[in-house]
Amino acid sequence: MLVDSHCHLTDPRFEADRRGVLFRALAAGVERILVVASNGADALSVTGLLDEVEGMAEVPRLWGTAGVHPHEAGGAKEEDLSVIRELARDHPRVVAVGETGLDFHYEHSPRAVQESLFRRHMALAEELGLPVVVHSRDADEATARILLEGGTRVRGVLHCFTGGEALMDTALDLGWMVSFTGIITFKSYGSRDLVRSVPGDRLMVETDAPYLAPAPHRGRRNEPAFVSRVAEELAVIRGEDLNEVMGYTTGNAVCFFDLTS
Ligand SMILES: [Zn+2]
Ligand SMILES: [Zn+2]
Repeated sequence: MLVDSHCHLTDPRFEADRRGVLFRALAAGVERILVVASNGADALSVTGLLDEVEGMAEVPRLWGTAGVHPHEAGGAKEEDLSVIRELARDHPRVVAVGETGLDFHYEHSPRAVQESLFRRHMALAEELGLPVVVHSRDADEATARILLEGGTRVRGVLHCFTGGEALMDTALDLGWMVSFTGIITFKSYGSRDLVRSVPGDRLMVETDAPYLAPAPHRGRRNEPAFVSRVAEELAVIRGEDLNEVMGYTTGNAVCFFDLTS
């Protein structure tokens, strides 16, 4: 049994075969999926999908998030933030705020706007008592700074972790979680020591589909069924039994996001 703790099933690349993607996920043992929103309109699409598949047989159980991705921070309006607040507060299957954070690699939005929106997501998560899903790329220092401001009052996960040891230590010291994607399966991946150093009770796995398909699917569309490849690689890197890795990553995600209802 596995959880895909982060994917974007509302992405247009799933439009033609979303149901098939869900069937394949369950057939691959992925019983629970967290569907992550990228902006206000997308958060509405996410909850639409959650409502559509609720109670349906032969698909995994889905939960969702509401938030504005740092790429989209520059275009976010107050209405988007109102939508996100309402969904995060009122929708029974929205279990986290995000994804939010900082992306200084692509820098699709101005850094100051990203930081300000990240702080607002942290405040909303604190207010609602929900965990926050954080994206950080080439922004270790700024992310650590914002975590240190509010991270003791909020539970969070650094998703698709690609940062350095200092950011990881900051997050772990605050009691936060770290989640890995198919990036750890790439030959070029250079941080296997960091993967080994994370305590087992702080680790989750995710696909971030449709992005970042793990080897041997690299370069193609990713999908939740492939989260098993991330778990397999985690087991190899950490020298652990695959069943054990599947067990604790599933338990962590279920507990952290409260994927029980
Ligand atoms: Zn992300
Ligand atoms: Zn994402």
